[in-house]
Amino acid sequence: MSTLRFTAIEKATQHLPLEISAPDKLPSDYYGKYVFNKKQMAKFLSKETMRTVLEAIDKGTTLQREIADHVAVGMKMWALEMGATHYTHWFQPLTDGTAEKHDSFIEYADGSTLDVIETFSGKLLAQQEPDASSFPSGGIRNTFEARGYTAWDPSSPAFIMGDTLCIPTVFISYTGEALDYKTPLLKALSAVDKAAVDVCKLFDPNVKRVYSYLGWEQEYFLVDQALYEARPDLVLTGRTLMGHESAKNQQLEDHYFGAIPPRVAAFMREVEFEAYKYGIPLKTRHNEVAPNQYELAPIFGETNLAVDQNLLIMMLMNKIATKHHFKLLLHEKPFAGINGSGKHNNWSLGTDTGVGLFTPGKTANENLQFVTFLVNTLMAVYKYNGLLKASIMSAQNAHRLGANEAPPAIISVFLGKQISAVLDKIEYSSEDDEITVEELKKMKLGVTHIPEVLIDNTDRNRTSPFAFTGNRFEFRAVGSSANCSTAMIVLNAAVAAQLTEFKSEIDKKMKKGMKKEEAVYDTIRLYIKESKPVRFEGNNYSEEWKIEAEKRGLDCQTGVPLIYDAYTSDQSVKMFESTGVMTRKELEARNEVKWETYTKKIQIEARVLGDLSINHIIPVATRYQSVLLDNICKMKAVYDEKKAAGLTKEDASLVEEIATHIAAIKKNVDDMVEARKVANKIEDAREKAIAYHDTVLPYFNVIRYHVDKLELVVDDQMWPLPKYRELLFTN
Ligand code: ADP
Ligand code: MG
Repeated sequence: MSTLRFTAIEKATQHLPLEISAPDKLPSDYYGKYVFNKKQMAKFLSKETMRTVLEAIDKGTTLQREIADHVAVGMKMWALEMGATHYTHWFQPLTDGTAEKHDSFIEYADGSTLDVIETFSGKLLAQQEPDASSFPSGGIRNTFEARGYTAWDPSSPAFIMGDTLCIPTVFISYTGEALDYKTPLLKALSAVDKAAVDVCKLFDPNVKRVYSYLGWEQEYFLVDQALYEARPDLVLTGRTLMGHESAKNQQLEDHYFGAIPPRVAAFMREVEFEAYKYGIPLKTRHNEVAPNQYELAPIFGETNLAVDQNLLIMMLMNKIATKHHFKLLLHEKPFAGINGSGKHNNWSLGTDTGVGLFTPGKTANENLQFVTFLVNTLMAVYKYNGLLKASIMSAQNAHRLGANEAPPAIISVFLGKQISAVLDKIEYSSEDDEITVEELKKMKLGVTHIPEVLIDNTDRNRTSPFAFTGNRFEFRAVGSSANCSTAMIVLNAAVAAQLTEFKSEIDKKMKKGMKKEEAVYDTIRLYIKESKPVRFEGNNYSEEWKIEAEKRGLDCQTGVPLIYDAYTSDQSVKMFESTGVMTRKELEARNEVKWETYTKKIQIEARVLGDLSINHIIPVATRYQSVLLDNICKMKAVYDEKKAAGLTKEDASLVEEIATHIAAIKKNVDDMVEARKVANKIEDAREKAIAYHDTVLPYFNVIRYHVDKLELVVDDQMWPLPKYRELLFTN
């Protein structure tokens, strides 16, 4: 009997829901307790310091060192009061997750090496130099030139995690290149702010600032900790590399929005309580489509902050899951045959005057502005559809996209009937040169009368990777484990570049004597025509769409390493450089990192798959063969030859069937190892990633096929790995 698996099952059944009680009566009583937010600032900073900090955050200006000193003193007092002993610059290197190196607050007291005091200066708050030589940099920072530094981002508040004050920071090389996700994100947000304000001014001169908003929906799986530990593939790669489908999985569609199992409900409660303490406004929780799959989402917020909160919540969920004897799976496709996990990025732009730029307005002017932003976004997604796909692509997400549950690896936009009709009306209304102000008025009328129900738009297309949902766009192709920044950098930068181009078109036309409305209308109409290929209202999962998309000239590349090429195309480099978001050098370096990461992920999976097949599966299958052979021999000893042959016919054929699978597994594992050896010799990161994709990855499914067939015939008592039914239905 396979002891580890059965011990794990036994342990799992003993894991009961934990009793979780609320920290206080109402969330509003303890909301943001661990965050150095405005409330705490008011307590620990002088009025003047606080005003300067808030103004710098609002205007995006640099803070003087002197102010940083004042802030540091206040922050330290707060942190010590909260029981913190250490501080860290919390940053987002180009790996999965976040990084931190803790320093204690203690220093020798002046003139003594016997006494210590707790100190924290503006210098320590503002800048640090972690020995960062082991973070990926794509060759920007050689190990012998390991200097990179972290710098405080005052727009995301510091928080306390355990005994440590965490200060959100950017991470840049000594020569100024970004080594993280936050730096280019902040630049993209500033670019879209500037470009959008310029466009807004056409409609409302009072607009001074445009914010980018993000509301992420985090999907995840929970599996029992004991069962997880009995699956080396889950432990080492985050996904199951083998495992036959459970007889029942999601066919009955009984999990989605179903009753939340008590153990999971307890986990969710604790996650929510903790999230509130960190000022993360979690709003929804529910069962997702696949068994043991769930989702949570906060109320949307400013994009930079929302990204940090998402990273924080992933950390919190991970920690809390362990306490509840669960293991949190954020992998995009932990199980074959059932849905994977995504992280829908609900995105919008809004002004400091409180107008949602993707919210249909009430007046003609507001609606012209709404259509302007909508159509410019369409154009941006159209022009950079390949790049947007690259922004969400990873070895993990590749398993999810294109499977029959998530959009294919093609980016298109769904607008819904009403908005499509509005755009059609603008497009077909009249000839370019015949537009009169009178006609414009008529047109505006069409746009003005977008029914109010649109906000609760139920005309939804769940298959679209980028859908308009009433007052925002929902970028659904983002993967569950991703840092939302990669998608948000590209989207905000591309829209910024597009809005800038639009504005210069308008300026040109107005210089030639066109009226503002006429110029806007004229340009939008051209954009509607031009961006048409990216609009798709049909079923994105269908085979026909792949053919159609190819015809329309959309990026249909499915190979992950090649998809990354979109980052360094002339068009992309120009867009990133013109918006000041990233330089060619940074883009090239980042692609190196992406290719290396891809290669390493496939390499690790290949090793684990080979190892499990040879050391776990084949020995067990062979042992079961001997049981069968033993039976055959014993039959022969007891019965005459003919009778024995009849009685052992099934056993004999099973022995042969098992032998066939074992041989196939052995051969394919050997071939895969050979393919890896060849690929490993390749120096160039891109070529190596391509080799891993083209020559190593294809073995995975073949090997898995034979292993899964063995799982079906080998004695259940012998099978070493927890099965899908156990992983997915224990909670
Ligand atoms: P659904 O699953 O129906 O798409 P959810 O309620 O799970 O919706 O999540 C929707 C997310 O979109 C939430 O985080 C919500 O706050 C966010 N959201 C709503 N309006 C906007 C907006 N204007 N801009 C950005 N995000 C938004
Ligand atoms: Mg959604």
